[in-house]
Amino acid sequence: MSDTLFARIARGDVPAEIVYEDDQAVAFRDIAPQAPTHLLVIPRKPIARLSEAGDEDSELLGHLLGVARRVAKQEGLADWRLVVNDGAGAGQTVFHLHIHVLGGRAFDWPPG
Ligand code: AMP
Repeated sequence: MSDTLFARIARGDVPAEIVYEDDQAVAFRDIAPQAPTHLLVIPRKPIARLSEAGDEDSELLGHLLGVARRVAKQEGLADWRLVVNDGAGAGQTVFHLHIHVLGGRAFDWPPG
């Protein structure tokens, strides 16, 4: 996988408002927020999209959900939504796996 914007953010080469990081994951504020709180949780490992994660990534994927829970709590969110766009047809624009953490407003269902 080629170097991506989010890999550069994870390395600190591109500035972002980081709200949490550890040896496996980084969480930062989305530059174009779609809700009062809009964070992105990414693995440091360069996985392009969820469907390209392997069985060996199961623990990492669980860790990313744990980070999402942690930052949602840190932000004081009561009800919140996670989104993973997998592929361009689903709205993915940055091909480095990321979980959107959205909160601070009501959400419609089904999503657009
Ligand atoms: P997706 O469309 O699911 O691939 O989501 C990519 C997200 O990355 C979008 O919500 C963008 O607003 C966000 N984004 C793009 N560039 C940056 C950046 N430099 N810092 C933070 N978020 C970004």
